[in-house]
Amino acid sequence: MTAALIDGTAVAARLRSEIAAEAEKMKSETGRVPGLAAVLVGDNPASQTYVRSKRKACAEVGIDSFGYELPKTAAQEEVDNLVAELNADPNVHGILVQLPLPDHLNSEQALSKIGIDKDVDGFHPINIGRLSMKGREPLFVPCTPAGCIYLLEQAGAQFKGARAVVLGRSNIVGLPVAMLLLHRDCTLTICHSRTKDLPAVCREADILIAAVGRPQMVKGDWVKPGAFVIDVGINRVDDATKKSGYRLVGDVDFDEVKEVAGALTPVPGGVGPMTIAMLLRNTLRSATAHSA
Ligand code: NDP
Repeated sequence: MTAALIDGTAVAARLRSEIAAEAEKMKSETGRVPGLAAVLVGDNPASQTYVRSKRKACAEVGIDSFGYELPKTAAQEEVDNLVAELNADPNVHGILVQLPLPDHLNSEQALSKIGIDKDVDGFHPINIGRLSMKGREPLFVPCTPAGCIYLLEQAGAQFKGARAVVLGRSNIVGLPVAMLLLHRDCTLTICHSRTKDLPAVCREADILIAAVGRPQMVKGDWVKPGAFVIDVGINRVDDATKKSGYRLVGDVDFDEVKEVAGALTPVPGGVGPMTIAMLLRNTLRSATAHSA
C-alpha cells in the first residue's frame, strides 16, 4: 500500500471530544446547553436509524436533542408548523428535517421554513445559494461536504490551484463539496452520469471526491499517482461470509486505489463518521452565535 490512510473515525473522535469540551465550557460559563431538534416524518427504518444515531451522538458530547415524530400521513402544514415552533424555541439551536420525506410532502418547502440561523444541515436554499456565490458566506455548510474538506485539510492536501474532480452532482454531497473546493481555489470539474471518458477526467485530479453510489467504480488506473482520494459512497454488496449477508463498500475500489493514491479514505471509517461530527459542530456554533 502506498497511500496514507485517512482515518475518519479517529479524526471524528478528536473533533467530538473538542466539541464536548466546548459544550461543557459553555454550560459552566453561561448555563446554556446547545440543543438540536430532529424532525422525523413516517417510519422509514433507515431514517429512524440515522435520527437515533444523531441523538446518541448529541448525548455523548453534551448537546440536548429533541426528537419529533410525525406520522407518514402528516400534512405539509403540520411539518411547516412544527418547524415554525422550533424556530421560535430558544432551547433549540439547530433544526434538522430528516430526508427523504414521504412522497406527498415537499421537502424544499419544509427546508425553506427552517430559520437560516438554525439550519445546521445547511440545506436551506439561502445557505446553499450563499455557498454557491462568490464572496458570500453561508451560515452553515452541509455536513458530509464539510467533513470531506476537513479530512483533506487534516491529511495535508493543498487546495490552491489543485485540479479537483468531483464525481456526482447531488444537492447533498456533490454540488456543495464542489463549491467548497472552488472557494479554496481549486480548478474544478464536476462529473455526472453523462460525463464522457470518466477515467481520463479522474486521472487529472490532484483531489478526487467520489459521491456516486456505485460500488467500487473508481479503479486504480483512474487515479493520478499521489492524488488525495475521498470516498463518500456507502454501498451494500452481497457477502455470504457476513452474518448480515452483506458488507459496505465505497465508490472507490480500495484495494486497487491504495496502490496509486497518495492518501485515501476507507469505507467504512472514512467520511461516514465525519458527517455526524460536523452536525454537532454546526449545532455548537449555532448555540454560540445565538448568545451573541
Ligand atoms: P445521488 O444518487 O443523489 O447522486 C449520485 C450522483 O452520481 C449523481 O449526480 C449522478 O449523476 C452521479 N452518477 C451516478 N452514476 C454515475 C456514473 N455511472 N458515472 C458518473 N456519475 C454517476 O447520491 P448522493 O450524492 O446522495 O450519494 C452518493 C453516495 O454517497 C451514496 O453511496 C450515498 O450512500 C453516499 N453518502 C454518504 C454519506 C456519508 O455520510 N458518508 C452521506 C450522503 C451520501 P446524475 O446527476 O447525472 O444522475
